[in-house]
Amino acid sequence: MDRRGALGFLSAGAVGGGLGLLGSPGPLLAGGVPPRGLPPVKITDVKTILTAPDGIRLVVVKVMTSEAGLYGLGCATFTQRAYVVATAVEQYLKPFLIGRDADDIEDIWQSSYVSSYWRNGGVLFNAMSGVDQALWDIKAKRAQMPLYQLFGGRCRLGADLYYHASGEEFAEVEDAARKAMELGYRHVRIQAGVPGLATYGAGGRKPETDAVDGPRNPTRVWEPGPYVRMVPRLFEHMRVKLGEEVELLHDVHERITLPQAVQLCKDLERYRPYFIEDPFPPEENDHFKILRPQTSVPIAMGELFNNQQEYVPLIAGRLIDFIRAHVSQIGGLSMARKVGALAEFFGVKTAWHGPGDTSPVGHAAQLALELASANFGIHEGALFHERTKEVFPGCPEVKNGYMLASEAPGLGIDVDEKLAAKYPFPPGPPNFDYTWGRTRRRDGSVIRP
Ligand code: MG
Repeated sequence: MDRRGALGFLSAGAVGGGLGLLGSPGPLLAGGVPPRGLPPVKITDVKTILTAPDGIRLVVVKVMTSEAGLYGLGCATFTQRAYVVATAVEQYLKPFLIGRDADDIEDIWQSSYVSSYWRNGGVLFNAMSGVDQALWDIKAKRAQMPLYQLFGGRCRLGADLYYHASGEEFAEVEDAARKAMELGYRHVRIQAGVPGLATYGAGGRKPETDAVDGPRNPTRVWEPGPYVRMVPRLFEHMRVKLGEEVELLHDVHERITLPQAVQLCKDLERYRPYFIEDPFPPEENDHFKILRPQTSVPIAMGELFNNQQEYVPLIAGRLIDFIRAHVSQIGGLSMARKVGALAEFFGVKTAWHGPGDTSPVGHAAQLALELASANFGIHEGALFHERTKEVFPGCPEVKNGYMLASEAPGLGIDVDEKLAAKYPFPPGPPNFDYTWGRTRRRDGSVIRP
């Protein structure tokens, strides 16, 4: 049905009052004026859908409206603390939002942001992201356009993806990279293990357990020295075996010191990495002022970032080349659009964080933004497994190393709630494996992941 044609334009006077806005609306906001040609639509319900079709705890928010059959979906996945996000949505955002105009995306974001008084943080921002993305989905459905059209239209046909090639041995990484290249990928992230250590991204090797005994055990042991000596050898192996054309990426995952990062980047320059990711944790952002002038290696940073105090200085200072923020962790599409626009002015490209713990809804949302962003850099490859695709009909298609958008209105993706319910979260507690908090140096001290 053509909603615009069927229902026509309602004047501000015809739709104002009633459900109200903001509790005590100011005079300029009291009208609830809908976009010309569209009827007003109110938020009637907000709920979370928790599902783990392939073992990862996904949180998706569904926002229902006063128009029959019109709803939106958004990603609120913070898999490590999923139930807390669900509480933030169901117990706190839902009562705040019922009755609001679904079109008021920016105002809903701003008012939700301050509604908790103390703000920011992974839980509250993921909850807000679920609502925010759902409202963009609703608005684009109302416009009967794929969401990228509302962001300015498509400036590329698909989003270049990078593939995760991981293994305990270099040969395993090489095999995985070859497989990716055969599938059409032009960008491959390479991660290999260090014998005896719980190296990030290296697969399932059982780490040694000779850490200092104590109440903190069981312990996954990791040491930075052997790791920074291994990585240049990994790149050398890949360049020799795979040639010069494939783009190689690597994720440090924050575990090394400033001098180690400087030396590692210098060692890797000759292999021309596409980017080196997250050399430092967010607590050490000032290190980039020292690292940046000493290396030509492109730097990607930011999957743990929350707020503008973390990412604005790095972007405005041209201290990084790719912003890696996790879209739901910074509050959703509304904030990601602003961060992306800021980055464009400083020559920083987007490489939004998006492995398997971003739901397919989140990937579809990222993709809409990427298709319309001039400074898009790369999309973290997501291989949607069969069960996940069944739960989320309309998963973005992956072809020849690109992610392609659905041309359906909105995000172009749905959720089969009955099927989602067949894949509940794994039983707990614990409700997460706590790996991050259990990786320690040999002396027992915890590392920042
Ligand atoms: Mg990472």
